[in-house]
Amino acid sequence: MEFRTILAPIEVRLPIVSHGGRARYLGGAFRAAPDPLVEGLALIQKRCPSFPLELQPAVAAGVAEGFAETLTNGRRFCCARLEPDLLKYHDVDTTDEACRTRTRSFISSCLWHAADPIPFAEAWKAAGVLGLAQAYRSTAEADALPVLADALEEAGCDLPFLLKHLRTCPDHGESCWVFELLLGPA
Ligand SMILES: [Zn+2]
Repeated sequence: MEFRTILAPIEVRLPIVSHGGRARYLGGAFRAAPDPLVEGLALIQKRCPSFPLELQPAVAAGVAEGFAETLTNGRRFCCARLEPDLLKYHDVDTTDEACRTRTRSFISSCLWHAADPIPFAEAWKAAGVLGLAQAYRSTAEADALPVLADALEEAGCDLPFLLKHLRTCPDHGESCWVFELLLGPA
């Protein structure tokens, strides 16, 4: 699994596409930012005058599908928040299907390439760290997460968003990306 996140806020553009000479497009801009409270990739549905309300459900579905698509391709987003800044569409192509498909391919192409690989060092997988991680996987004791954060920090881990993720999220379950980084898939 390849892990990426957004380390600093960026603006990513959903490209405009046209087909067969006929105007058929969905284009726009999203602001992507790091957010340790997010487990994977979250779309924030903020009010945006240039983001037609009726497109929001299709765009949200496209984000979820795009995230799922990256997972099936062995790629994983972590702690990334996505806010629409602008979204424009042409009359010809207002179907939910078109908006969903465009957003999905945007997530797995543009956003993925704009994201940073997580600089996770093998040296942080100290014996104590791995033991704590395995224990959490079998017991799911939420109290163990800050302890794991301390152990990782002692092993040299200096990724603020990773440490904050363990110290602030109440429950990660088996899908938590930190445990996938440490132990592989559940
Ligand atoms: Zn987690």
